[in-house]
Amino acid sequence: MDKEKDNIIMIGAGLTGLAFCNLLKNTNLNISLVDMQPKSFYKKIDNNRYIVLSNTSKIIFDSLGLWSKINTHCTKVKNIHISKKNIFGSTIVKSKDENLDSLGYQISIKELIKILYENIEKEKNIKFIHEAKVMNVKQSNGVKVKYIKNSIEKIITSDAVIFSTGSSEDIISEIFLDKVQKDYQQNAITCELVSDIYNSETAFERFTNKGIIGLIPRKENSWTLIYSTNKEETELINKLEETGLKNYFQDLMGKKCGNIKNIKNIKTYPLKMKYYKNCAKDNMCLLGDAAHTLHPIAAQSFNLSLRDCTQLTEIIKKSNLKNKDNFSAIFKDYYEKREREVNRLLKFTDYLASLIHGKGFFRNNLLGVSFLIMDMNKSLRVNVIRYLLGVNFSHSLISNLKE
Ligand SMILES: Cc1cc2nc3c(=O)[nH]c(=O)nc-3n(C[C@H](O)[C@H](O)[C@H](O)COP(=O)(O)OP(=O)(O)OC[C@H]3O[C@@H](n4cnc5c(N)ncnc54)[C@H](O)[C@@H]3O)c2cc1C
Repeated sequence: MDKEKDNIIMIGAGLTGLAFCNLLKNTNLNISLVDMQPKSFYKKIDNNRYIVLSNTSKIIFDSLGLWSKINTHCTKVKNIHISKKNIFGSTIVKSKDENLDSLGYQISIKELIKILYENIEKEKNIKFIHEAKVMNVKQSNGVKVKYIKNSIEKIITSDAVIFSTGSSEDIISEIFLDKVQKDYQQNAITCELVSDIYNSETAFERFTNKGIIGLIPRKENSWTLIYSTNKEETELINKLEETGLKNYFQDLMGKKCGNIKNIKNIKTYPLKMKYYKNCAKDNMCLLGDAAHTLHPIAAQSFNLSLRDCTQLTEIIKKSNLKNKDNFSAIFKDYYEKREREVNRLLKFTDYLASLIHGKGFFRNNLLGVSFLIMDMNKSLRVNVIRYLLGVNFSHSLISNLKE
């Protein structure tokens, strides 16, 4: 291998870029991890968002020896109570139906990023290039990456490049052309809700006429609230003062989370589904939200990306990297192995998001009946859990890790 060159340049050190590099820690591959964020970002992250990790993610982090650290910051979701406001019928999905310790583990992005960063910060085979904005990527005897750092332009080269640049399309739109995009004309409103119920292990998913509200317990009496709703409702919510906000969400949730005492850190994210039909092109590849951005209804985007990272790094570790051209074959193999699962999850999430938003007799009754059937039918309920947890997927990948 050419010693002057990196093997891989990874553009984007968010959750995906960091997870990928953790999976290739202690290998003989040289990786440069480029991000426009400064080093201080990873120590004091200004991000109040939480995500739910699935059981497959737990297994992957466990295989890296990181789960015990991550777990200290997690709250368990043992049950999910699903209902629709003002209609009859609800169901409860329980971890014990799957003989699982928990249906999911909620953690703040801030803590997860910090743990993933610190685990590779001083790693010999991984070089961080902070405060560097990549301007373009060109094929030329490998790949040339041009970035700007401190107003100075630099070029670095590698055998392959991976884009884990999130949902921004700036530098990939000229390279990857076959994009599928759907604007749900909705936003996700997220905030922290404080109530008078402590240490709940039950999350609530509630369908309203204007969207879907998810309430996931954090530590003590704090909860993550995610409300996916249309643009008009978003505007209305964003105009509400503190008391108005409390009343608004109390009315939607009833007393499921007790009496709401406080609402903090309200943020709005536009909801889109976006993915590329082929995320591998020669010696270039897309990973994470850069490859597929999903509606957060099933809390799956990062969990899916982590399984993608695991698959790709498994193939890389098993391959013969003496020949630099091998990356094209590696990325092609990776894409073929992941295509089916990614498409299934994209369809499942899109189906849920499109079907369930909105009102009307048919939808309300269909939902009510579905909840009743699910409540009575254990095997159906278990299948829903499997989808939510990703255990229907990546079976061989995950069992390899367990061994
Ligand atoms: C409301 C909401 C709730 C969610 N809940 C869940 C959940 O419960 N479970 C779950 O699994 N997922 C969830 N997700 C999705 C999850 O948050 C994302 O999948 C994940 O954060 C994406 O990580 P990423 O590293 O791919 O992208 P990002 O976090 O966007 O990171 C991209 C990085 O690339 C860098 N970058 C971009 N362009 C350049 C450039 N030109 N040069 C240099 N650097 C660049 C950026 O600085 C950034 O650091 C949720 C998403 C939302 C919006």
